[in-house]
Parts: sequence; C-alpha cells; structure tokens
Amino acid sequence: MSFQCPRCNSKEIAFLRTAMTIGASVGAVGGAARGASTVLTGSQIGATVGALAGPLGITIGTVSGALLGGLGGGVGGCAIGAQLGEKLDRHVLANNHCLVCGHRFNLPT
Ligand SMILES: [Zn+2]
Repeated sequence: MSFQCPRCNSKEIAFLRTAMTIGASVGAVGGAARGASTVLTGSQIGATVGALAGPLGITIGTVSGALLGGLGGGVGGCAIGAQLGEKLDRHVLANNHCLVCGHRFNLPT
C-alpha cells in the first residue's frame, strides 16, 4: 500500500504509532489480568492431569497450567490492543504525517 499526502500529493509519509504502542501495552496488561483467571483454571487442570503421575506431577502440572494461562492471556491481549491502536492511529488520531508539508491526516476507511 502506498499513501499520498492529501494536500501536496507527496509520498513521503511518516506513520506515528502513539495509540498502537499504548494499545499494545494496555492490551497486554488487560490480557494478563484476564489470563490470571485462566491461570486458576489452568493450574487446576494441570494438577488433575499431573495427579496421574504422582505428587511431582501435581506440582509440574499446576505450574505449567498456570504459566500457559497467563502467557496466553497477555500475548492475545497485546495483539488485540495493537490492532485497535493501529486503527486509531490511522483513521482517528490523524497520526499520518507528511514529511514534505507537515500536514497530518486520517487515512480513508
Ligand atoms: Zn504534504
């Protein structure tokens, strides 16, 4: 995709990522928080499965179940937050910046 400045038709466009960066951070935190509830479920499932392998299995199952739950939540949230932020930058916050005339504009949706 190539974009042009709507004012001077230059193709020297810089794309700022303010909302995308914030969105990714907020999404990661929110996702991790949501993942925390999955952690409990994950550790319970892990402990149940691990119980088949004895006491050591319970510990390993609990820890790995908790890790997977928290990790999955954080990564998923980060990706969704970044996507939302990207849309905000491009279409709402006018974070597309012409390097020739300095014009800031939204991309057409
Ligand atoms: Zn321009």
